[in-house]
Amino acid sequence: MPRFVTHLEGAIDGERLDADKIASLHRDRPILVRYDLEAVRAAVTPDQLRARPWSMWRYRELLPYFDDADVVSLGESITPILPCPRLASDLGLDRLWIKDESQLPTGSFKSRGLAMAITMARRFGVQRVALPTAGNAGGAAAAYAARAGLECYVFMPEDTPIINQLECKLAGAKTFLVNGLINDCGKIVRQGQQTMGWFDLSTLKEPYRLEGKKTMGLELAEQCNWKLPDVIVYPTGGGTGLIGMWKAFQELAALGWISSEKFPRMVSVQSSGCAPIATAYDKNERFAELFPNAHTVASGLRVPVAVGDFLILDAVRQSGGTALAVAEETLLDWQRMAVRQEGIALCPESAACVAAVAQLTSSGWIGRSEDVVIFNTGAAQKYVEAMQAPLASLDISLPLDWEKIAKTT
Ligand SMILES: *Cc1c(COP(=O)(O)O)cnc(C)c1O
Repeated sequence: MPRFVTHLEGAIDGERLDADKIASLHRDRPILVRYDLEAVRAAVTPDQLRARPWSMWRYRELLPYFDDADVVSLGESITPILPCPRLASDLGLDRLWIKDESQLPTGSFKSRGLAMAITMARRFGVQRVALPTAGNAGGAAAAYAARAGLECYVFMPEDTPIINQLECKLAGAKTFLVNGLINDCGKIVRQGQQTMGWFDLSTLKEPYRLEGKKTMGLELAEQCNWKLPDVIVYPTGGGTGLIGMWKAFQELAALGWISSEKFPRMVSVQSSGCAPIATAYDKNERFAELFPNAHTVASGLRVPVAVGDFLILDAVRQSGGTALAVAEETLLDWQRMAVRQEGIALCPESAACVAAVAQLTSSGWIGRSEDVVIFNTGAAQKYVEAMQAPLASLDISLPLDWEKIAKTT
């Protein structure tokens, strides 16, 4: 199958770069993959997609990989868009959906990006990769690196959720707990580049994780029969999810597969414990400043400085969306409330999105009859420390008290 990549492009200045070499940053900023969309339009139609397997790789013409044989896969499936009528009603909406990315390999949407990044890295001859992680990226990188037969180094803050620590180690990654934040971990990866000879898989420091995450937008569009919702609510850490979806929508509009007249309003959600993007949005800045003393139970949001900050803010503004931070202390309450209402294993990052929707419906920014989609970016089960709640116990040597059992919450 032909490949439709024409070139790479510096996101900060539009400079054209070679797509046949492995790439990292350009002027310390992200690089984007560009395609010959005219040729893609001539090569495939939405109808023709229907016959393909239900996985992220079905959007082949809009993806950067060379050969099917290169693909490193753990069986990524299409994730369901689940209607949430009870939650909708609680939030003052007629309709609300959750696209449940927790069903992907390693339990988070990070598998999309890392499947693509590892596929490309191996194709370009990389044998050793390294990355800083807030948690789930490390787990996904470790798994896909193992799948690809690559050596993987993971650096994470020492209070990263224990499941993320263990899943990296289990998959054979050389895993390190660092007494700093994710940006400190990022520095280690940068510093080791010469000596260790590894390829840096950090968020947006190579162009391909973004292309993997772009498939969230492609998939959403196809699942909605090429008519996108009014509002997309997305938790933001490094921003690849939001930037990737926005890139997907631009490409689909250029192909004429979706209308270019009305895009979804992109809502970037952070926690008050780490809100560099929401702060920059409020101040009308294009670049964000390092957020001091970053802390949040939603570990995926604990990214105090993002190399793609301007791309997140551009997408939010171009879409007519907004960026906001919700109160850190309320995240676990929102999580419990949402999981009880719908049974979907919502991670704390996506619980922040539920809180944001509550805020935006009560302010009138989201109208009752609008179609709203929240992304559940990861599985609640990966956050055992945060979830811990005392359970009622039963002593089998005593008679059973059915009334007490019925009243237990
Ligand atoms: C990484 C992560 C995020 C943040 O994603 P970005 O696209 O990097 O902003 C949100 N939620 C979870 C569960 C994550 O693992």
